Amino acid sequence: MVSSQLPPFSAPGETRQQHSEDYITKEDTFIMYTIESDCISCGSCADACPAGAISEGEQHYEIDADKCLSCGTCVDACPTSAIVEK
Ligand code: SF4
Ligand code: SF4
Repeated sequence: MVSSQLPPFSAPGETRQQHSEDYITKEDTFIMYTIESDCISCGSCADACPAGAISEGEQHYEIDADKCLSCGTCVDACPTSAIVEK
């Protein structure tokens, strides 16, 4: 998801323009993950996700794109390699 609002300034003395440029770069490199049908609904990814972005869906577990931080932790936690880059 691309937010219209900038996150809080992180570096002391950072100008608004520098901050905007950094943020745009991060958005451009943000990797979105999705869960495919190989999912056996073990729940390991949901337990490992630091953002609480994964929950049980109708067919298998699903990632809430609005909550995902793109950290990749769930990919390593999955025993069936069902989580892939979108
Ligand atoms: S990439 Fe990180 S934040 Fe996103 S769903 Fe996976 S573990 Fe959660
Ligand atoms: S860790 Fe993999 S198999 Fe287990 S619920 Fe998550 S996506 Fe499905």
